[in-house]
Amino acid sequence: MTGLSDFFQLIIHRRFSSRKTIERYQISQLQSLIGFAKQNSPFYQETLSDLSINDFSDLRKLPIINKTVMMEQFDRLNTVGLKKDEVMAVAVEKELNKDYLGYYKDEFVLGLSSGTSGNKGLYITPKSLTQRLPFVFLARSGIPLTCLPFRILFMLRVFSQGFNDINSPLISLKYLSTMTPVDHIIAQINQQKINILMAPPSLCRLLIPVAHKIKKPLKMIVTYAEVLEKEEKIRLSEVFLCRVIEIYQGSEGQFASACSHGNLHINEDLIVVELLDEQYLPVTRPHVASSHMIVTNLVNRAQPLIRYEMNDLIVLDDPCPCGSHFRTIEKILGRNDDILYFKKKDGSIQHIFPDLFSRWIITSSENIREYKVIQSQDHSLKIILDPILKRETNELIRQVSERLHTELSGYDIESAFEIRCEPISLPINRSKYKRFEVEKEIRKV
Ligand SMILES: [Zn+2]
Repeated sequence: MTGLSDFFQLIIHRRFSSRKTIERYQISQLQSLIGFAKQNSPFYQETLSDLSINDFSDLRKLPIINKTVMMEQFDRLNTVGLKKDEVMAVAVEKELNKDYLGYYKDEFVLGLSSGTSGNKGLYITPKSLTQRLPFVFLARSGIPLTCLPFRILFMLRVFSQGFNDINSPLISLKYLSTMTPVDHIIAQINQQKINILMAPPSLCRLLIPVAHKIKKPLKMIVTYAEVLEKEEKIRLSEVFLCRVIEIYQGSEGQFASACSHGNLHINEDLIVVELLDEQYLPVTRPHVASSHMIVTNLVNRAQPLIRYEMNDLIVLDDPCPCGSHFRTIEKILGRNDDILYFKKKDGSIQHIFPDLFSRWIITSSENIREYKVIQSQDHSLKIILDPILKRETNELIRQVSERLHTELSGYDIESAFEIRCEPISLPINRSKYKRFEVEKEIRKV
């Protein structure tokens, strides 16, 4: 099994003894990636034509792209002949059918992201690569082999990942939706003898009141998709009596995994992360906020992302005592949206994650540039849409409203919401922007 052999490779062989060895490795990977992209992607053939890489100052001469460019050039940028319109139609269709697993053409995992510009981003990852990635976090987490077999419960939020067929005697991976009622989640943990739980921090918080029902304590909780605050990490580890670590990944790549000391290290052998200040000069010191985070995914050749600007920003930390020379992350800025809470017809409370809600909005219409959702104490919602075509606002409001009614009633929620269209301007400091704002008191209801 490839994944398992990766696991042992990663923990045993691939040690980088200094920053220099890492950089040398990255340069050789960049050369190979860029050579491949120039040969197989008309977009990169054009934009990188006479540029070659011998060191990092050469890398900084390559053009930076962002989501808008990537989406405009989608057909010419990918190296596997996929067409944006077709792939997008399938991605949206899967979304509408809540078909979050499975592969496109039996070969690719599709990822749909909303991101700060409000437009949809479409990411493709080869199936073979996706299936290997869970082993990266396992290998780097420092989880002892005495914990084998790993029986992982993966709480899947929305869309993507598709690692649905890992089931070996040593590692098994089960999936549940994050919308599953908490008692059912606990029952599954007990029944399947789960020892590793992978879930967003917000879901772990929901499990706190029922944590005592878990019969055999978990060995580890791995959080993803949202920022894990330090205090929260301590609290979760006290409540669940296990280690709590974090991984940092997105459709654009596997950015970082936690080490045996629980610190988050950039996966420098999988991705090149450049942190730049306002003048686009490198930020190398810890504890200093950068203005741009540019990534190059070294392993995904289906849709090469070379110098791709992310919406997230990270702050570096001091070197880690674990001995790894991969840079450490002190803080991830961004992704700080609140969870929405609704009253169901039977009086109980249903939580809805902002990324699910945002998918309902962005897949309702092509005509949304940006949006914001505000929930007040009585659970009612105010939704602001900033349309691309101002003439079609009534149609847009109708589409979004219809979609939300359908989705919410699917959860037995009768919610009052008001939708209006107006221009939205993003603050200069994007990391502070919240697309979902929930008045604090609501959580106590
Ligand atoms: Zn470390």
